[in-house]
Amino acid sequence: MTHVLVAGGGIGGLAAALGQARGGHRVTVLEGRPEFSEIGAGIQLAANAFHALGALGVRDRVTGRADFIDELRFMDGTSGQRVAAMELTGAYRTRFGGPYAVVHRGDLHRALLDGCREAGVELLAGHRVTGYRQDGARVTALTAAGERFSADVLVGADGLRSAVRARLVGDGGPRISGHTIFRSVIPMDEVPPELRSRSVTLWAGPGWHFVHYPIGGGAFLNLAATRDDGAREEITGAPASRSHVLTRFPGLCDDARELLELGRDWRIWVLCDRDPVDGWVDGRVALLGDAAHPMLQYAAQGACMALEDAVVLARLLRCEPYEIPGRLVAYNALRRDRTARTTLTARRMGDELYHAAGAGAASRNAMLSGLSPEELREAVAWLHGSTSFTEAPEAVLVRAEGA
Ligand code: FAD
Repeated sequence: MTHVLVAGGGIGGLAAALGQARGGHRVTVLEGRPEFSEIGAGIQLAANAFHALGALGVRDRVTGRADFIDELRFMDGTSGQRVAAMELTGAYRTRFGGPYAVVHRGDLHRALLDGCREAGVELLAGHRVTGYRQDGARVTALTAAGERFSADVLVGADGLRSAVRARLVGDGGPRISGHTIFRSVIPMDEVPPELRSRSVTLWAGPGWHFVHYPIGGGAFLNLAATRDDGAREEITGAPASRSHVLTRFPGLCDDARELLELGRDWRIWVLCDRDPVDGWVDGRVALLGDAAHPMLQYAAQGACMALEDAVVLARLLRCEPYEIPGRLVAYNALRRDRTARTTLTARRMGDELYHAAGAGAASRNAMLSGLSPEELREAVAWLHGSTSFTEAPEAVLVRAEGA
């Protein structure tokens, strides 16, 4: 039986572990924190994520905890003009074979964790991986406490500052985007009824944007306001005062400002990503999720990509007749272009759509408002509509070998 070690028990690591365990492998997850948990608020999941969750056998659990979204609304944040809206119910679901939803990160993480427990995954918290060694037959993960864990495969799913990536790619720290995000969650009963909707609403302004959507069965409203302020230091979850947040978004139109003013207990993150790289595989070691391809959240696809990675890797590691390093090379080849395109698209969405100013904003409004519902769906079809990652493993492996 193949033994798979996974470094990191976030959404990507647990999805990878679940996929491997369902494939009949022995799986051990080494999580650096003292317990398996996920912080933060809501996370958007497009139809591609639901295909991946289906392949991992936990789609129903996540669906049961999700808030389904009726439309993605793009608003001009200074004039208040509704620029475009993509309907996410009938035609979206028919075309892409799945819904668009928001879930609490903790709920998604718990669904994967419960799936792992039921599938017999060994879950070891408090084990921070610092690096690895390998020979032709085994790979050994080294931990901060000086322990060694040996297996047939090591999956580095240890996030943005991955220790496995540091050893494998060695490309230093992540790129600090210069964008700061302020996040808050407020009870929905504090939101004026006329400002409530089952939508993800984005207000775009010069150098900033503000997104909100319902979570928790509609009991809460998730607020996320981002400013291109040239921040140079990484910040993760530091508190911010309400007055500080309000001064960062001058020019916000009345409806959006009313919602921003409701926020409290704000927390700050400075967003990071990395330039795409060609290779995330070294012999028996492969990267997955943010460790492989961290991206800005502007396409709302980082976790979706991690789930897709997990499905592809699980399918390839089931292809027993092939050597493990070859299967990992195939995984890398199959995931590289799609994740690179998503990373670069997310950057461009921030610069060209969300933060455009002056004539750029006018031209963006004209372009987006001229798109028909079908054209809007077509624009995201490559991302939300792809199911190539759920293909039969042999076909995938043969195609990758021939590529
Ligand atoms: P992580 O979530 O970072 O998990 C890594 C895990 O590894 C953690 O548990 C960590 O404790 C552990 N770890 C770290 N180092 C070590 C080590 N050395 N040894 C062992 N364990 C270690 N994506 C979407 O799809 N939709 C969205 O709407 C969306 N919104 C976002 C909003 C914001 C503000 C941000 C910042 C991101 C957003 N994303 C979104 C992206 C998404 O959050 C990430 O892509 C996803 O969480 C990556 O999961 P991961 O498991 O690869 O990494």
